[in-house]
Amino acid sequence: MAQKKTSGSDQIVSVDQHRIRLTHLDKVLYPQTGTTKADVIAYYAAVAEVMLPHVRDRAATRKRWVNGVGTEKKPGMMFFQKNLDESTPSWVKRRTIEHKDHANQYPLVNDLATLTWLAQIAALEIHVPQWQFGRTGTIKNPDRLVLDLDPGDGMGLTDCAEVARLAREILKDMGLDPMPVTSGSKGIHLYAALDGKQTADQVSAVAHELARALEADHPDLVVSDMKKSLRDSRILVDWSQNSGNKTTVAPYSLRGRMRPMVAAPRSWRELASRDLAHLDYEQVMRRVKKSGDLLDALTAGHLSALEPTPEHMARFDATPQARDRLEQYRSKRDAAKTPEPVPKGRAAASSGRSFVIQEHHASRLHWDFRLEHDGVLVSWALPKGVPTEYKKNHLAVQTEDHPIEYGTFEGDIPKGEYGGGHVDIWDAGTYELEKWRDGEEVIATLHGEKHGKHKYALIHTGGDGKAENNWLIHLMKAD
Ligand code: MN
Repeated sequence: MAQKKTSGSDQIVSVDQHRIRLTHLDKVLYPQTGTTKADVIAYYAAVAEVMLPHVRDRAATRKRWVNGVGTEKKPGMMFFQKNLDESTPSWVKRRTIEHKDHANQYPLVNDLATLTWLAQIAALEIHVPQWQFGRTGTIKNPDRLVLDLDPGDGMGLTDCAEVARLAREILKDMGLDPMPVTSGSKGIHLYAALDGKQTADQVSAVAHELARALEADHPDLVVSDMKKSLRDSRILVDWSQNSGNKTTVAPYSLRGRMRPMVAAPRSWRELASRDLAHLDYEQVMRRVKKSGDLLDALTAGHLSALEPTPEHMARFDATPQARDRLEQYRSKRDAAKTPEPVPKGRAAASSGRSFVIQEHHASRLHWDFRLEHDGVLVSWALPKGVPTEYKKNHLAVQTEDHPIEYGTFEGDIPKGEYGGGHVDIWDAGTYELEKWRDGEEVIATLHGEKHGKHKYALIHTGGDGKAENNWLIHLMKAD
């Protein structure tokens, strides 16, 4: 983060190539501990690397305390924000959710710049659902299950930990491996990674069943019903946050409590301690520095989903072959002038099978058809898009290989730059490969988030000279 001092306690910083004005840095947001806005911004920067994988591509709601959390006697005013307002910087990634009578636009907390901006506007708490948006903006099935263990009157954190262990036994029998997070408020959240094959309603039903089973076995300790009157001296196993329209405070989020506590991932060994306590932001920063992300395994499922996320990319080693393949791509672009990804280093050799089709409003409208292969996105430009009739083949002009990161690119390439114009993701997903003969023929079945399953054959026309990059794309009958 490059910093430039301006007047008073304000600063302009440059994060991920975005300029962000940080104001009132010395404002105290937690009076009891004297924790300032500068401290909050520094905290989120320190945990960004471990936090972002858990919030990425989720509709983020914000709880803001613009004048701080106040005191016990005079709590600060909090407001809850779902929809983005006009003051949101244009570079903040966003997605829309259509509700019955209105639509809300949510920010995606996908990078350090967005996290920094959220800290700047005193969005101390960040809440996210258990599902992610797909690359085309579709709502995917949940990729994690959550149970919120909430202590009733007279119950404490160690009681929650006891119920967490009981829930863990049941979840293990179901083939799930839950991980605990002390919420920084009262209780414990248990998260378990899912394979994304079940809908939010199905996951909710399972979580509800589990809560009822715990209550039946331990009626003196557990309650599964939200009604407060039932909760005295017991732990509520709140299963309802698995609903598609509910959120849970994100792992590593600060809490708007009197002290700057954090929703902190914990080990099961820690949970067994009689001295178990919630952690504050300074403790969490030290832990992250020392041991990284205890919740790492929660996003492991994303690796098999073949999405070209940085986590996915990091798993592969580079090959010289892939390194060479991006030379042409790089030579056409200046990282300082285009928002497109321009990887400096070598390309990663992946064995993934992701695809993307981008609608590209360049000087001539076309659709870019890209298949992940040998560590790059092998690419064709389709002036008429993909064929929708079996009998009508479309022209597909092979273009330079693109980096895998390009599979998530949407935005505006500036006028005058190579390919200047707007790019949208038309469809994205994974594909099954039937045949790949370099420079001759490719047959693949695409599983698109948005447009479903289609099988295509790409066949080189055999031309040379000017026509050497010309292929035809043919829609095939599915097997
Ligand atoms: Mn293009």
